[in-house]
Amino acid sequence: PAAAVAALVDDLNPAQRQAVEHSGSPLLVVAGAGSGKTRVLTRRIAYLLAARGVHPGEIMAITFTNKAAAEMKERVSELVGPRARVMWVSTFHSMCVRILRREAKTLGMSSSFSIYDSDDSRRLITLVARDLDLDPKRYPARTLAVHISNLKNELVDPSDATSRATNDLERRVAEVYRTYQERLGQANALDFDDIIMRTVELLQAFPDVAEHYRRRFRHVLVDEYQDTNHAQYTLVRELVGTGSDGVGPAELCVVGDADQSIYAFRGATIRNIVEFERDYPQARTILLEQNYRSTQTILSAANAVISRNPNRRDKRLWTESGDGERIVGYVADNEHDEAAFVAGEIDRLVDSGEVSNGDIAVFYRTNNQSRVFEEIFIRLGLPYRVVGGVRFYERREVRDALAYLRALANPDDTVSLRRILNVPKRGIGDRAEACVSLHAERERIGFGAALRDAVSGRVAMLNPRSQKAIAGFVELMDELGEQVERGEDVADILDSVLDRTGYRGELEASDDPQDASRLENLNELVTVAREFTEVAVRAVDPEVPDDEIVDDDEAAGAPRQGSLAAFLERVSLVADADSIPDADSDGVVTLMTLHTAKGLEYPAVFCTGWEDGVFPHMRALGDPAELSEERRLAYVGITRARQRLYLSRAMVRSAWGQPATNPASRFLDEIPAELIDWRRVEPDRAGPSVTTTWGRRSSATGGDSAQAGLAARGMRSTSFKGWQDTPSVQLDVGDRVNHDKYGLGTVVATDGSGPRATATIDFGSAGKVRLMLIGGLPLVKL
Ligand code: ATP
Ligand code: MG
Repeated sequence: PAAAVAALVDDLNPAQRQAVEHSGSPLLVVAGAGSGKTRVLTRRIAYLLAARGVHPGEIMAITFTNKAAAEMKERVSELVGPRARVMWVSTFHSMCVRILRREAKTLGMSSSFSIYDSDDSRRLITLVARDLDLDPKRYPARTLAVHISNLKNELVDPSDATSRATNDLERRVAEVYRTYQERLGQANALDFDDIIMRTVELLQAFPDVAEHYRRRFRHVLVDEYQDTNHAQYTLVRELVGTGSDGVGPAELCVVGDADQSIYAFRGATIRNIVEFERDYPQARTILLEQNYRSTQTILSAANAVISRNPNRRDKRLWTESGDGERIVGYVADNEHDEAAFVAGEIDRLVDSGEVSNGDIAVFYRTNNQSRVFEEIFIRLGLPYRVVGGVRFYERREVRDALAYLRALANPDDTVSLRRILNVPKRGIGDRAEACVSLHAERERIGFGAALRDAVSGRVAMLNPRSQKAIAGFVELMDELGEQVERGEDVADILDSVLDRTGYRGELEASDDPQDASRLENLNELVTVAREFTEVAVRAVDPEVPDDEIVDDDEAAGAPRQGSLAAFLERVSLVADADSIPDADSDGVVTLMTLHTAKGLEYPAVFCTGWEDGVFPHMRALGDPAELSEERRLAYVGITRARQRLYLSRAMVRSAWGQPATNPASRFLDEIPAELIDWRRVEPDRAGPSVTTTWGRRSSATGGDSAQAGLAARGMRSTSFKGWQDTPSVQLDVGDRVNHDKYGLGTVVATDGSGPRATATIDFGSAGKVRLMLIGGLPLVKL
């Protein structure tokens, strides 16, 4: 055991070692990123067991990363075996949910309560405010939500809020707060802030419950302490206790870095440390200074950015590991180009043997930015996983909508048909479905055909009401099917599906906050379909026979580009988790938001979307406090990288199907120029906007390196190229062109503009062809 104990502290520096061995009073470790705070916490737990005879069941550790939690559990099981399981290692929220589910009865709740995320809660607040006749301009839901959240984080309940209110806004907030809490209660739901607040309430109102947990947890350890708010702070204090109830106070150890405070609202960090020192006067504070994670180049960039924040205690990260590589910078035309660059670089890094996929992380500011990366990674066969957030195509409503499209594209698709048969509800019950299914089996016909038999009364045991409902469904699908036959755009078909089935209407009419986000997801799917059609290269001249369709995808049997079938094929590749190789020893590339990246580290990191309005986030642009918080987020992102760091931005990025031109993130300018190796900079912009500049894709852009990677894997790049937001060719009558398939030609007519622009080209012996002038065209102007 002496050797085991020595091994736990051997590879620590003196300050780290002191923190691990400290006992007898509360301990605060404050230090910069990568200085070993989490390592100290992990070691300390192991040390408690190995050197001080603590039982794992007496340990409660609050951590923010699975990796740290897994490492803590692993170390502890190495020392004590399966007993390690009784140790509590979790986040504040899951620790509290665990307590609340156990003690729900005490609080008069059902233990099956649901949890509303901030989005759900804001939507519920919108409904409440509407019911209270509040002017949404004067009292926007977002403002109300922030105020209510702040009250909860300050542990102020609705009646306190009412009695404290001194002005109109505060009175309104208190009113909304009270009603909102009632509605949450009726829904047997808790929002994120309630989870902490109600646990504090539980511990304060029920001394026997509190004593139970205090007797159990003799050691409380908190990582990422800078992100605790007042409610969490109080929670910790209640858990630790003061010793006044006969149970001596637990030993407390907290570690954090004020520069990485990315969740706390203004002042929370300083306050928690002040409070810590007030409530625990005998507390010891230890500082760590040396960084063991990153190269000096990366640390210098991080130092430069964070030093722009006012009111911070200056500290400089330093390392013994040397300068390392320069940071790579890249300015992309648009988000697809950015994703292609990232994919190409990953390919190159992995091919060179420098790192494996599992060593690489891609960060972005908000979850919705993952989609572009996911699409390209799937297309390239690059194994990846998205941390946090349900994958877009796995969402129920997205699956429902796609099931409609599948049933339309293939009326024999039994699985899809049965999925949507009664979604939204149209009076086709389980029994009716069973009758039809039985008929199909007996007659050995498909489910779709059996539905038609039901309409003509040939299905046994079916009651007339069900028969009528099925007839309505079949008629609806037939009408939608006509749109498919007419070759309408996928997005238009999808729109019709959502409207005519009543799916959209039902969600719009719903009071459930989750339905509002379902609606948003469906709108996003329409955007996906819209983009799909817009970049598809296809003939629009009805005189051109189908086999003459201008399509550089010549594989037999491949669905026509832009068609519903092509869309579904593409989407099912994205949706099909099986197409992602299993995580082997090489691991997979990890995608996540900057917030999620807290506490993690990767040999190679891609920080994407460095654009003002994206990162820093739009709403931070005019607000110094929020801007400081965004800058801390930049500091967190940069300091995740061990050896290689990439910073990229897109000149144009689509939001809701609308391209927006964003300037470079101000944080980029804050990094000393000599630290960045710009692989591609913003070209001189002669024209009004890059979105309207047409011309063949430059070979210097990342799309081509991704293409090269693709080619190396023996895959065809057609559909990939079709998906690029590739600038196309602007043509006038008389222009000479060369087409990969048709050869030389002359433009004889043009029509439409922007995404609807077409040109009719005379290719001589190959005939006249009308082309849509959209990205990825195998055509150059001569
Ligand atoms: P963050 O602020 O990002 O949470 P941190 O302060 O918690 O960072 P750790 O994650 O604990 O830092 O450590 C960063 C890296 O440095 C880890 O890979 C860790 O194993 C390594 N490390 C920490 N201390 C030492 C040491 N004394 N010797 C060698 N490596 C160390
Ligand atoms: Mg850490």
